[in-house]
Amino acid sequence: ATPTALVAGTGAAAKAGILIRDIEALERAHRVDCVVFDKTGTLTEGRPAITDVFTLGVDGDETIRLAASVQSSSEHPLARAFAAAATARGVTIAPVSEFRAVVGRGVVGTVGGRTIAVGNPAMMADLGVDLRLFETERARLAAAGRTVVAVARDREALGLVALADAIRPEAADAVARLHAASVATRLLTGDNRRAAEAVATALGLDAFAAEVSPQDKLAEIGRLRSTGLIVAMVGDGVNDAPALASADVGIAMGSGADVAMESAGITLMRPDPRLVPAALEIARATWSKIR
Ligand code: ADP
Ligand code: MG
Repeated sequence: ATPTALVAGTGAAAKAGILIRDIEALERAHRVDCVVFDKTGTLTEGRPAITDVFTLGVDGDETIRLAASVQSSSEHPLARAFAAAATARGVTIAPVSEFRAVVGRGVVGTVGGRTIAVGNPAMMADLGVDLRLFETERARLAAAGRTVVAVARDREALGLVALADAIRPEAADAVARLHAASVATRLLTGDNRRAAEAVATALGLDAFAAEVSPQDKLAEIGRLRSTGLIVAMVGDGVNDAPALASADVGIAMGSGADVAMESAGITLMRPDPRLVPAALEIARATWSKIR
């Protein structure tokens, strides 16, 4: 009866849009008691829009032109917001050379012979860009729950760009269903503290950690597991791949990066956070028939 129950269980999951890789993933999924969510693209739509552009001594359109040019080589959800802003402002994207993405931090490239960087304050600190003149405005925008990135030309800060990303409408229901099944919920994000807090509060998550690098996401999963919790990690991005691979159960949002899906035991075919409690429910029901 065991293989029959397994086939029926994974079949029911597939019908619901949940791909379970193997019996190990199913076995671990039925014991999960803590779910860790990535924020951008997982609990939020991953379609951020630019809400504010703040510059000092430089034109806002020029700042967006340079930033959007570098972002045109990026696959990060934030990058698309820059393309939309460039179109809205009627500025033309310039060619970029020597592009590189710093996972969980931002992007850098050469535009018209100058080095243009777009990224978070940690990235700007690495590049030796002084953001002190922008600190009051950065704090104000972050306090409003915005994702805030800076744009720099060579070592000079040109301005700040604030972005907002809507919470997925299904996310609250997903969290409530996990709590009803006595599963703890946590948020782990590379974004700033206030943006993380806004999402955690809106959804009633048990805990959150912000400004977490991909390596720190991995370490946090390890720390949670070492307390005896059976941990599922849900993510969509390149930055989530190490954490997905190291969790007891990695759950990739199918709309995300290929590397996220390759690192996960479970893949969700639709970007619907409710498929997370559904996957755990199916795993529990299936496992109870196998034993
Ligand atoms: P999350 O953990 O929420 O999915 P990421 O780790 O992908 O977020 O990104 C963390 C932070 O790094 C972002 O909030 C942003 O500040 C910065 N960042 C990452 N990629 C980019 C990019 N292409 N352009 C600008 N900033 C970026
Ligand atoms: Mg993400």
